[in-house]
Amino acid sequence: MVLWKCQVCNFVFEGPQPPDKCPKCGAPKEQFRQLSEQEAELIIRSRKSNYLHMRALSLLRELLTVAEEIIQDNLDPPCVKIASEEKEFASTTIQKIVAELESHMKKGKWG
Ligand SMILES: [Zn+2]
Repeated sequence: MVLWKCQVCNFVFEGPQPPDKCPKCGAPKEQFRQLSEQEAELIIRSRKSNYLHMRALSLLRELLTVAEEIIQDNLDPPCVKIASEEKEFASTTIQKIVAELESHMKKGKWG
């Protein structure tokens, strides 16, 4: 698979030729650089992992919202204790995932 990257906005395009203009920022085709086979493989291999991390992020954000509702509901101290633990777990894990995704981007495992 041939990948092209817009040097202005980092939009990644798949195809034998770059587009006439960047679909995101409108830069002309001359602004597209063909990624090496190695760079393209890294992106393709990472897409599934990044998507799975983002799905996990979405579930953890849902858990955070539910935990906050349980705390507000405040039926009894054991409920609030469990919800506080859920909230702590979700917040910490969200930040771990965000840090991991940031490191993927810096290593070219994104696009
Ligand atoms: Zn662009």
